[in-house]
Amino acid sequence: MTPRTVFHLEVNPKIPRRLIRLEELANNLWYSWDRPTRTLFARLHPGLWDAVGHNPKAFLKRVDEKLLAEAAEDPVFLASYNHILSAYDSYHSEPVRRNGPSGLGPDDLVAYFCAEFGFHESFPIYSGGLGILAGDHCKTASDMRLPFVGVGMLYRQGYFHQTLDNDGNQHALYTDSDFDDLPVAPVIDRDGRELKVSVELPGRSVAVKVWQARVGHVTLYLLDTDLEENRPDDRDISHRLYGGDRTMRLEQELVLGVGGVRALAAMDLKPAVFHINEGHAAFLVLERVRMLMGQGLDFATALEAVAVSTVFTTHTPVPAGHDHFSDEMILTYFDWYLKEVKILPEELLSLGRTPGSNDFNMTALAVRGSRFHNGVSRIHGEVSARICQSLWPQIEPEENPMDHITNGVHVPTFLFQDWADVFDKFLGNEWRSRLCDASFWTRIDEIPDHLFWSTRQSLKSQMLYLVRHRIAIQHFRNHGSEAHLDRLLKYADPINPHVLTIGFARRFVTYKRALLLFHDLEWLKQIVSDPERPVLFIFAGKAHPADVPGQELIRRVAEFARMPEFEGKILLVENYDLRLARRLVSGVDVWLNNPTYPQEACGTSGMKAAINGVINLSVTDGWWGEGYDGKNGWAIKPAPEGMDPVRRDREEAQTLYEILQDQVIPLYYDRGKQGYPVEWVKLAKRSVASILPRFNSMRMVSEYVQRFYAPAARQGAIYAQNRFENAKHIAAWKSRVRTAWPGVRLQRLDTGPKRIQFGDRLTFKVAAHLNGLGPDDVAVELLIGRTTQTDRLSKYERFRFRPEPSVDGSDQHVYTLDLEPDLCGKLNYMIRAYPYHPLLTHPFEMGMMVWL
Ligand SMILES: *Cc1c(COP(=O)(O)O)cnc(C)c1O
Repeated sequence: MTPRTVFHLEVNPKIPRRLIRLEELANNLWYSWDRPTRTLFARLHPGLWDAVGHNPKAFLKRVDEKLLAEAAEDPVFLASYNHILSAYDSYHSEPVRRNGPSGLGPDDLVAYFCAEFGFHESFPIYSGGLGILAGDHCKTASDMRLPFVGVGMLYRQGYFHQTLDNDGNQHALYTDSDFDDLPVAPVIDRDGRELKVSVELPGRSVAVKVWQARVGHVTLYLLDTDLEENRPDDRDISHRLYGGDRTMRLEQELVLGVGGVRALAAMDLKPAVFHINEGHAAFLVLERVRMLMGQGLDFATALEAVAVSTVFTTHTPVPAGHDHFSDEMILTYFDWYLKEVKILPEELLSLGRTPGSNDFNMTALAVRGSRFHNGVSRIHGEVSARICQSLWPQIEPEENPMDHITNGVHVPTFLFQDWADVFDKFLGNEWRSRLCDASFWTRIDEIPDHLFWSTRQSLKSQMLYLVRHRIAIQHFRNHGSEAHLDRLLKYADPINPHVLTIGFARRFVTYKRALLLFHDLEWLKQIVSDPERPVLFIFAGKAHPADVPGQELIRRVAEFARMPEFEGKILLVENYDLRLARRLVSGVDVWLNNPTYPQEACGTSGMKAAINGVINLSVTDGWWGEGYDGKNGWAIKPAPEGMDPVRRDREEAQTLYEILQDQVIPLYYDRGKQGYPVEWVKLAKRSVASILPRFNSMRMVSEYVQRFYAPAARQGAIYAQNRFENAKHIAAWKSRVRTAWPGVRLQRLDTGPKRIQFGDRLTFKVAAHLNGLGPDDVAVELLIGRTTQTDRLSKYERFRFRPEPSVDGSDQHVYTLDLEPDLCGKLNYMIRAYPYHPLLTHPFEMGMMVWL
């Protein structure tokens, strides 16, 4: 055969005039939470819709022109098209909130930086929980009309596609995205050219192209280095999410942090608040400092001005999970920076230092470069306060500035249409605007029990169709027989979805303990083998291709699933992604989560499950530590920390089995006269009513706005006024305090009676040696309480001492406090001093304190 070249050509259909706005719908990620929009596309050609991975833009480029022409004449299609457009238009016509209850001004733009964003399976720039949370945050900012932009990376390859072979070996398949198929467009600058910024790398600079994606009202900017003018290895920087080695990771983080700030500046956007969502983006701090120094500020002043308007959210529950780089790498990559801002290498490195380690920690940089910091659940906030303790060395973790804001999920994305319809009918349309109103949701009882149950059954059956489909593909690819497939799918029957179905789907990492269920196979066998009360477990999840133990977990689950006694009762479904996640969290009966306490930072899949009427069975770690109220699901109380891991696993597995056999299974199979489990429905309703209003992303973003964004914007403005007068002032004051603090001491002057009568007044008097500081630079405080937990500082009431007029020339300052205790009994009290300045953002941000 003569050699020949095959050229490629894509013929795109012409979209009929009447349907022209389908393009607009395909180019706004509004479709990622508006189900009717997705259904509209799917209806045109369900097969193609699946083939293009539910991607509206790719779909429109490939759909047969004839189908479009027919649809343009089809009154039913046109009616839903017009209905959707009017919903779309009314959503987008509401202006950005002006001085609403949020406390953010209309010009107080928030810029939210994250390494990944998960909106929908058609837009593969996410790997898991962190990205989906970031996507939910943007969607909610749009719902709330906040002045808000996102900044991330446009990866050519998102996270991998997972296939599993017969032995449970994971095969990772990466595919390149065609950016023409994604809902993105290049940002065009004032001169009509594609906007590019550049970022310095050792001996060169890399060009970064800026793309934008519409997320309802919000714009997401995405950075891309895959450009002709870049060196081949620099083109690869934005190639793969979490790909490559440490150098690649550092380069990605430079592009995100430094390039992201430059992109915003090039578009003349001036955020009032920067939000670093996980440490990957922390280099933005250094770039903002550099830009402020261009206005004549010194490094310390610029850092104060930057930090005060920066929010940092940490997501990692173990120190080893924090991103870090060697000093050598940092100094190589920031050589240009040191020269430009004229600071010493040690000054730069000290921003990323933690005691006991000698590398550069991105979490430490993010904390030092921000004044608002949080973990993502109450428990994780406490864990993070301990991990970051050394950044405020003299402050107890309980009081240090590491706070928490618990995650939430975007209800329109994760609540199934079936539920939205039921809520519309029984609670009225207003449920959409009452998402955070707990008293409103007690009305869940107005939904008749049998209807609640049949909605659940219908969602389960839809889920089982998808699971069967995926298992069949898996099975035949691995050369399985038809008869064997029938056996495998015996309990996953969508026509008759009566088998109790329990879901466990999440990343395969050791701490999530996918094997806990298999701790005692005999016991498990008993639990699943009652022919009257069968149980089906569905597992799904990916392991990072570099995580060898994670992949071993998948193999073990596959091995158990193959054992004759578990055949058909344990299904392992490949390629856990957003689509499968949405189906599983809404379709199973019980959502199981058994991480090793306290390593689950938050977990959000259980929230998605709960809002869909699925009941949680979980270790009280992460969000379940707050979500579980004793009567809205089941809790595995973790064994005490520090217990031998083998024993802990045994005890917690035992609790799991007991809950399954004594509570879950009997409750599910207790069909009364009505033919459905009445008590089960009650429990599921309590779960929805107690969890939906608390763990949705509207509540989460509102908290960020009120507690962080609005105060950060205020502080930022205060520090910036009069050419950064206050930032300068606070930087100079802190420097003075740091020098003097080691010499500050307290001494008691009054003798302090041991016993008084209720109603007696006490006068406390202390002398403070301030080592050159003024009496107003220091707060002296008394803590008093009737507590036996002397280590729980929050249990104490506190009172401020007054400085007395000072004696000239003396370094000893006297402080007094008059107090009439309003408690009786044995009381404890303590006296302490710490640096005080009205411009501080957190009273203990300096990390300094002395106790008497
Ligand atoms: C929600 C979600 C996650 C995060 O859930 P966890 O509870 O943190 O495991 C991960 N992956 C997908 C696809 C999700 O939808």
